[in-house]
Amino acid sequence: MPQSMTIHDKLTEIANNLWWSWQPELDDIFRRIDPIRFLELSQNPVQLLKEYTPEKLEQRAREEVLHSKINWAYRRFLEYLNSQTTWGDTHAGLLNFRPVAYFSAEFGIHESLRVYSGGLGVLAGDHLKSASDLGVPLVGVGLFYHEGYFSQIIDENGWQQEVYNEVDPETMPITPVLDSQGKDVLISIETRHEKIYARIIRIRVGRIQLFLLDANIPENSEEARQLTARLYGGDQRTRIRQEMLLGIGGVRALKALGINPRVIHMNEGHSAFAPLEVIHNRMAIDGMSFDDALRETAASNVFTTHTPVPAGHDRFDAGMIDEHLGPMADALGLNLQGLMGLGRVDPQNDHETFCMTVLAFKTSRRANAVSNLHGVVSRKMWACLWPWRSEEEIPIGHITNGVHVNSWLANQVRVLYDRVLPSEWHLQTGDPSVWAGFEKVTPGELWETHQALKARLINYTRTRLAMQAKRHNASSDDLEEIADLMDPQALTIGFARRFAPYKRADLIFHDVERLARLASDAKRPVQFIFCGKSHPADENGKAILKRIINLSHTEQFKGKVVFLEDYDINFTRYLVQGVDVWLNNPRRPLEASGTSGQKVVLNGGLNFSVLDGWWAEAYDGSNGFAIGDGNIHANSDIQDERDAISLMDVLENEIISLFYERDNDDLPMQWIARMKRSVQTLGWRFNADRMVMDYVTDGYIPAAGGLSSEMRSMP
Ligand SMILES: *Cc1c(COP(=O)(O)O)cnc(C)c1O
Repeated sequence: MPQSMTIHDKLTEIANNLWWSWQPELDDIFRRIDPIRFLELSQNPVQLLKEYTPEKLEQRAREEVLHSKINWAYRRFLEYLNSQTTWGDTHAGLLNFRPVAYFSAEFGIHESLRVYSGGLGVLAGDHLKSASDLGVPLVGVGLFYHEGYFSQIIDENGWQQEVYNEVDPETMPITPVLDSQGKDVLISIETRHEKIYARIIRIRVGRIQLFLLDANIPENSEEARQLTARLYGGDQRTRIRQEMLLGIGGVRALKALGINPRVIHMNEGHSAFAPLEVIHNRMAIDGMSFDDALRETAASNVFTTHTPVPAGHDRFDAGMIDEHLGPMADALGLNLQGLMGLGRVDPQNDHETFCMTVLAFKTSRRANAVSNLHGVVSRKMWACLWPWRSEEEIPIGHITNGVHVNSWLANQVRVLYDRVLPSEWHLQTGDPSVWAGFEKVTPGELWETHQALKARLINYTRTRLAMQAKRHNASSDDLEEIADLMDPQALTIGFARRFAPYKRADLIFHDVERLARLASDAKRPVQFIFCGKSHPADENGKAILKRIINLSHTEQFKGKVVFLEDYDINFTRYLVQGVDVWLNNPRRPLEASGTSGQKVVLNGGLNFSVLDGWWAEAYDGSNGFAIGDGNIHANSDIQDERDAISLMDVLENEIISLFYERDNDDLPMQWIARMKRSVQTLGWRFNADRMVMDYVTDGYIPAAGGLSSEMRSMP
């Protein structure tokens, strides 16, 4: 380590690698430099450090006694980057020279990098972080959205408004990829009418490199420059152009960087054009026919499907496909009919539109769903692609999603883990015997830790409510009232996720009077925190949101039901670390997996969920609570009614009773037993290390070896 490095140099280097975001001591260091400014900057240390000269930072570090902490963190950082003894070194050697390329339309890594909208992106971010920790040779490929996803503001009528802010690339932990002359490395793709250029941006996520394509460059027309402005914005035309850039542009970018991936992993169908470019390369380099190149390259592609909701699959008509993929079809020697056939269940059916999910299935030999139940649903849903097979034989397996432990675990709980779990527990999170040690935590200690996190959540909730109220010109009386809202002792239930209608955010208000009665019980009160964005074009989602907001302002629910604006990763952390109960009530079986409840598990909160997605394989009768019995009524109105009644029955008869059943020390012993069972039975299964190891073993390695066996459902 060069002695001449200042602490400003060291911290700047660390801040430019998102590794810092899952190191609690670095979060603490940045926070201590300037707590308020750090918060204002969305916890963005790159921007914070730009506001400090080396001298000014020296002084601040002296005041806060941070020098040895910073030096130690920097040493750990270098050690992490250079370690040669990772899980990947022994288990993924085959991928060392030619890595996995993981394609995703969004990546949720930290709140300061707004290139994600929800669960899919956070999953992709967690995948990169675990791949980094495990030392799996992998690069990420995505798009750099300079406006990102929108910020949410609720107007006086309770209606969601979307605000977009241009990011300043100078304040981001990103570096453009430059050639030897110091110019941007550019890639281009052609449509029938124009050529679109993009530069490549590099982001470091621990040991992993993430490459994002950015079309906002002077070589492009004004329209093309806006192509990568927003995530999931615009119309079908924007969508197909973004997906072209992601898939075809992504493969070209890797080539320009000298990276020749052994395996391509498509996280959802958005990137399904990527295999076409890989086929194109094989044809050009090895003189193969299209059919041979498709057969060979498909063996090294892995596809993860994420949605059983029909509207969640991108579809384009033939005109749109011809305009954008026409030049690619020419290069592949396909006519429009032949190209369209790749995106159709029945290639001959001219009435079928081009479906990205179908393309992904047809161009990859290995495909998986994201939970056991979603595997069953996906095999049924896509049986049409393999009409000669029985449903059980449909080649779609499953790997259940998991979450990156270090990103979601509260510090205070980590201290408990450090004490009672084996010393290297964080390197063996997929091992059940490691988590069994949680039994040793004493009930009082667990409860107090949880109470502290809950108090922190409630304080944060009050702060955010006050910010929201100020925007609506609240009086000082109003603000005083807000400072007292919510009760840190009351049973606190959280609900936060995208407001897609199938997630039924307002299901708990099915019987408003019954809920009001429970919420206002002075001896056994219940309170709710809601949070989440609706897609800008989703009027139904916005109507559900408005209903909850309006109810939260009624006399009945004031201070019992609150809605926090502008859900993001930062909110998630406060919520999943502080709630008693995490509510999830999607319409079964539409939640492919869900991951937010897994974040709650790590921190000792209890899940209360419909038996859908991951919860259908997680719930065992004593590690949380279930809504419904797993049966589905053909009529969704009847299903909603049934689930709503079950929800209220379980809430009233099981959850509230158990939570308020206290011993002489005011401890809810049965509740605490359930918290422990939740951590012990679920922590080892639903974490991202286990997930990435499964992808390596069952997906990447067989794909890299060109093994012909398909990915099958795991027992
Ligand atoms: C984890 C997470 C999600 C996923 O939530 P689900 O309940 O699994 O849909 C969505 N958004 C953010 C910001 C998250 O952190």
